[in-house]
Amino acid sequence: MSLTFIGGIHPRENKNAKDKPIELLPPPESIRLSMSQHIGVHCTPTVAVGDHVYKYQCIGKITSGLGVPVHSSISGTVKEITKSVTPDNVEKQTVIIENDGQNTPDPSVRGFDGPLSELSAAQIIERVRDAGISGMGGATFPSYAKINSAAGKVKHLIINCCECEPYICANYRLMIEDPDAVINGAKLLMKALGLRRCDIAIEDNKKEAIRLFTKKLSGNQMFTVRKMKTKYPQGDERQLIFAIYNVMIPQGKLPADVGCVIFNTETTAAVFRAVAYGIPLCERIVTVDGDCVKEPKNILCPIGAPLSDLVDFCGGLVKPPKKIIFGGPMMGQAQWDIRSPVSKGTSAALLLSASATTEYEHRSACIRCGKCVGVCPMHLMPTYLASFSRTYNFDMCEKFGVMSCVECGSCTYVCPGRVPIVQLIRSAKVRIKENRAKKS
Ligand code: SF4
Ligand code: SF4
Repeated sequence: MSLTFIGGIHPRENKNAKDKPIELLPPPESIRLSMSQHIGVHCTPTVAVGDHVYKYQCIGKITSGLGVPVHSSISGTVKEITKSVTPDNVEKQTVIIENDGQNTPDPSVRGFDGPLSELSAAQIIERVRDAGISGMGGATFPSYAKINSAAGKVKHLIINCCECEPYICANYRLMIEDPDAVINGAKLLMKALGLRRCDIAIEDNKKEAIRLFTKKLSGNQMFTVRKMKTKYPQGDERQLIFAIYNVMIPQGKLPADVGCVIFNTETTAAVFRAVAYGIPLCERIVTVDGDCVKEPKNILCPIGAPLSDLVDFCGGLVKPPKKIIFGGPMMGQAQWDIRSPVSKGTSAALLLSASATTEYEHRSACIRCGKCVGVCPMHLMPTYLASFSRTYNFDMCEKFGVMSCVECGSCTYVCPGRVPIVQLIRSAKVRIKENRAKKS
């Protein structure tokens, strides 16, 4: 039987690229690398305009605080260092590199000479940090910091292979095309965390991945393949932990507080490549889909490549997009420009026409149907939160647990009144955080 949580929704899967093997993007003419593609402090550029850079070369480093370095995904010349609006719609320092077409790797990049089992936990963590790895499922939290905060404290490692958002299948393709990278990455994470067991959580709509991992790991006492129910947001950390261990994370606490740590599929494979071969995080798989795209694909592309290059590689557009989203349709980030660069957290790019998107012009009032309450995986009262936010009653928002909302959008999805619940909740959270900052 498949494991699951209470609440959630069943949006149409629309995984149109599910059977499309990963293809390599032709080299882009130039790339735009934001100096902050992770949660934490921004990097300081280590290159200047006119410098030649190698592929894999570190071009931005952290001087102090939480964060990871940024590396070039091509070889070429630094053309410009400027402020520009990044995919998360914030203005950040950006390094623009023109491709020399040589793809020359940094000669200092070297793999580990010897069996990986000889590496200590500290050596693994150092390599993960130096490779600039942050969560590739969209959260972008620096992976070395996640390992450090969990090591010696947690009992359970989960590799999150759910990929529950519609359209996205980048992780699924990685699982069936390179399962060893995921398994070996998980072994390295276990070593770094001081654990001897790991759960691989896969939604039951990914039958081929379940079959492959079950076969590969059969008889291996370190791994358990967990079949999860196909439901949104099954990939949310809290829902995974509840579904597998029947444990709820208390409000304001983190997975590590209940003894768990979770890594995304592609992040886990990136850990393996960084530790074994010294390859930093500078390329990733992006699912390009939506009804405006001629041929949906899964594309392995250099980080910093413009979305327009990916769309061209998919045969271009068949109709003008009304909405461009990086990530999934439920939690993704709207983009204002088709040239937006792919970043470390970009799992998908969706180009959707007016008929494929929800219009909010014809919204009605809340009819007290309670559907939003029934689907909320955090067991909140979304209808109350929305109405408190609308009337600027942020104290009541807090009392009703608004800060526990994971912004999954399930409530908005089912609302027959088309109340923009998650948008109202987001603005309440921003105001509450601003008020707290003013008081401190
Ligand atoms: S209130 Fe938050 S957690 Fe609950 S369904 Fe809505 S967006 Fe998801
Ligand atoms: S789903 Fe919409 S209409 Fe129904 S109770 Fe919630 S906010 Fe009101």
